[in-house]
Amino acid sequence: MSCIFCKIIRGEIPSSCVYEDDKVYAFKDINPQAKVHVLVVPREHIASADAITAENSGAVAAVFEAIPKIARALELEDGYRVITNIGENGCQTVKHIHFHILGGEKLPENMGN
Ligand code: 5GP
Ligand code: ZN
Repeated sequence: MSCIFCKIIRGEIPSSCVYEDDKVYAFKDINPQAKVHVLVVPREHIASADAITAENSGAVAAVFEAIPKIARALELEDGYRVITNIGENGCQTVKHIHFHILGGEKLPENMGN
């Protein structure tokens, strides 16, 4: 599988891990768009949030169970934002579902542009 995030999860591409468990891997974004910018991914390859089904939603639930733990570890007690981009109009560049955690500072109010 040529998916770049599957390669990161397998350790074939180096990454700066901030959290991992049996279902979830989280690492620093290579091109941070906030003081804190982490990507949280399920180990299971799911193309995007538009491909979530009853069969694979457990992997997504595991991501959302991990997010508060990651936020505490990163000292984001003043708040943060979780974003997932989907498809062409959503500007999704990596076709392995991932959730951006952005924080560490006051974020822009406008999420659309
Ligand atoms: P998307 O645009 O698909 O929502 O987000 C993909 C994110 O993955 C981007 O923020 C980009 O900086 C990040 N990214 C792409 N390739 C790599 C990589 O090899 N390592 C890391 N750590 N982040 C990456
Ligand atoms: Zn993948």
